[in-house]
Amino acid sequence: MQKNKVLERDAVMEKLALFGGKPVFDKKIGYGHQYIDESDIQAVTEVMRGDYLTCGPGLEETEKKLCELVGSKYAVLVSNGTAALHAACYAADISEGDEVITTPITFAASANCVLYCGGKPVFADIDSDTYNISAESIEKKITSRTKAVVAVDFTGQAADLDAIKDICDKYSLILIEDGAHSIGTKYNGMPVGAVADMTTFSFHPVKTVTAGEGGAIMTNSEALYKRLILFRAHGITRNRIWMDNVPEGGWYYEQIGFGMNYRMTDIQAALLRSQLDKLDMFAKRRKEIVKRYDEAFKEMPEIVVQKEIAQSDTVRHLYLLQLKLEMLTVGRKEIYEALEAENVGCNVHYIPVYYFPYYQRLGYRKGICPNAERLYERLITIPLYYGMQDEDVEKVISAVKKVLTYYSKKG
Ligand SMILES: *Cc1c(COP(=O)(O)O)cnc(C)c1O
Repeated sequence: MQKNKVLERDAVMEKLALFGGKPVFDKKIGYGHQYIDESDIQAVTEVMRGDYLTCGPGLEETEKKLCELVGSKYAVLVSNGTAALHAACYAADISEGDEVITTPITFAASANCVLYCGGKPVFADIDSDTYNISAESIEKKITSRTKAVVAVDFTGQAADLDAIKDICDKYSLILIEDGAHSIGTKYNGMPVGAVADMTTFSFHPVKTVTAGEGGAIMTNSEALYKRLILFRAHGITRNRIWMDNVPEGGWYYEQIGFGMNYRMTDIQAALLRSQLDKLDMFAKRRKEIVKRYDEAFKEMPEIVVQKEIAQSDTVRHLYLLQLKLEMLTVGRKEIYEALEAENVGCNVHYIPVYYFPYYQRLGYRKGICPNAERLYERLITIPLYYGMQDEDVEKVISAVKKVLTYYSKKG
């Protein structure tokens, strides 16, 4: 080896933190973090001093704002993203014996919502380049019992919606888009939330905007909206147009459908409204960080950069490294642990849903979705959130370089 090459290598090989070297970050940073400023705190305290902690005017105001942002006719705010998926499946009339097709590379809730309604989740494989559910694989999984598709905009990139919509139209299936990762993303120039029959959002603190906990279902269909709004609150209505009987008096309400208590509080709705004002700012910063990461990681032979489809103008929620394991002397676990030792908080999104013991007991077996299973072995999520400074981004990149160079077969 040339002398300067050796020096360069010695510099990178400076002992990994795992083996007692100095970590790249002095203090652990998380893979995601909410951003709350004074205006958010003020919005919440205003509600706290007011008359309504729940069932006040805050929900409708926030729903209106969401509709404007997303360009959809109706929004129904609920207590969390899982409740939103449950409501969407209920509104789609999923019941015993119905099959709903979804991806295994998602949070368990995207499939659990089908179980809540007595339906059967059927897993279609992913596209190995975009990591989103493959339209072709969806079509292969359709049977006479298929009733809906839950397409997840994984990492924030819109699913292959044109192709999936075509399939849904062809087989008369309802398209539910799980947009827990994708608020702010546009598909063919249209904001996510106005494309599918129903789109659900999550406002958990790791997501792009937060309400502490929270969720929403967006739709353009009046019929679905009616089912959703009833489902949110006990199936009860005070709207006399919807009632079977003439109201007996001012106290009168009717339960005309099936429902839960999935209400969002006015406290959460106020926080969400304030956070939505920052969506553009959040989106811009996330895009900058992703661009910088992509640039840096494209140069590294040990990493595959996630592919973006042209139709998706993505606000990324998660940044995933796909490791080229054949270029490395160790597996994903060792890389994950080495990055954690550098104080880079990591995660893995996601363990294929049907790997879980609960799903195994329901009879699902490994091997159903080979692309998803292969990808799972190779994934590590690295930090991406609004509050990251440029310096943090560069430090994450140098930590990844340090670790992968150390474990590279290229030596
Ligand atoms: C977070 C998430 C959910 C669930 O949202 P909660 O608000 O946590 O209930 C559903 N699907 C996906 C893909 C998610 O990431």
